Amino acid sequence: MKYDVVIVGSGLYGATWAYLAARANMRCLVLERRSHIGGNVYTEEIESIHVHRYGAHIFHTNDKEVWNFIQQFGEFNHYINSPLAYYKGKIYNLPFNMNTFYQMWGVVRPEEAKAIIEAQRKDHYVEYPSNLEEQAINLVGVDIYEKLIKGYTEKQWGRPCTELPPDIIKRLPVRFIYDNNYFDSRYQGIPVDGYTAIIKKMLQGTDVLLNTDFLSDPEYWKRHASLVVYAGPIDAYFNYEFGPLEYRSLCFETEILDIPNYQGNAVVNYTDRDVPYTRIIEHKHFVFGKQPKTVITREYSQPWEIGKEPYYPVGDQKNVSLYQKYLTKAREETSVVFGGRLGEYRYYDMDQVIRRAMDTFYSVVK
Ligand code: FAD
Ligand code: UDP
Repeated sequence: MKYDVVIVGSGLYGATWAYLAARANMRCLVLERRSHIGGNVYTEEIESIHVHRYGAHIFHTNDKEVWNFIQQFGEFNHYINSPLAYYKGKIYNLPFNMNTFYQMWGVVRPEEAKAIIEAQRKDHYVEYPSNLEEQAINLVGVDIYEKLIKGYTEKQWGRPCTELPPDIIKRLPVRFIYDNNYFDSRYQGIPVDGYTAIIKKMLQGTDVLLNTDFLSDPEYWKRHASLVVYAGPIDAYFNYEFGPLEYRSLCFETEILDIPNYQGNAVVNYTDRDVPYTRIIEHKHFVFGKQPKTVITREYSQPWEIGKEPYYPVGDQKNVSLYQKYLTKAREETSVVFGGRLGEYRYYDMDQVIRRAMDTFYSVVK
């Protein structure tokens, strides 16, 4: 066999594995179905601006080892994610914090904001929320739920908030201080040369085949190494034997504008149901760009079906149970490691994917 490991997918999961394996003198082959490396963190240059082709990617973590790890491959700036929400002609700060409460109700002190939220949730309070609507109203009351959560969430996930798991909304902090930092993470930033440059460095010394689908002939590729690391969708690996898992897909519409500044912020969420897209990204603002033109991307959420790109696993009970069936099968495949957002069917952020790859690598390659 020419290789020690065949890695399926050149996203952060595969690239972390490839880097660690190469450093341990293992010979690796990376197979990538797309025409470029990087998975969903891929950035491409348009008008000298790093464009996040698959949606805004802000690196943030509390994991110091992961932060030190990623920084070996490129410099990160001091960008702090502070998205805005646009609802019927008005702008609100995110995540939900004293600025949002001031914009929503004109209150200036935390006690005033807490009193309004308390009054609004009194009639709806549920001790153990079983869906996203109950969870959201418990957290921030009815006004914010109606204006900033309901429409956005239903566009994003394509179903009513009453049919979505409460956990999704727990990703968003609620703060009674004036602080627009979207993440509660100690370390945060954007790579100044784009994510593709980072992945390229991680894959240095590794053979990479683009436009190559492992699943078109898995037995052939398995003959190339005794170990396969698979970061594609787990249900696809097993040919959807128990039926497909559910995902949300996305569609991106990118436009070059002959003006230097379109929306004054990198991310603006459109929380009104009537606006068809969920957000507009203005890429230059991630790195404080001064180019004469600007590039914006409208992001639309779409239903997923076989053949479309799966972006978000839908982590409700039905799908988690289905995933368990695939996981049982996966455990029988002793020479294959399933990992990453699709391989583990988990709504992982970038830092979690790197952490998972590191931990799995060290447990498999002793
Ligand atoms: P992927 O990046 O999906 O890589 C998997 C790769 O495998 C892909 O390149 C795919 O083409 C390839 N592949 C699949 N099947 C096959 C096959 N059969 N043969 C060959 N190749 C195959 N995280 C953050 O931390 N911060 C953010 O701000 C953030 N924003 C996000 C915004 C959006 C819109 C999305 C969708 C995700 C966001 N994330 C963010 C999450 C982040 O994208 C993921 O955590 C990370 O990219 C997952 O890496 P991965 O390697 O597991 O998967
Ligand atoms: N969300 C919302 N309004 C917003 C932003 C987010 O209701 O303006 C909700 C929505 O349900 C979303 C969840 O919070 O799915 C998590 O948001 P996040 O920004 O973390 O989603 P991602 O970046 O993963 O798309």
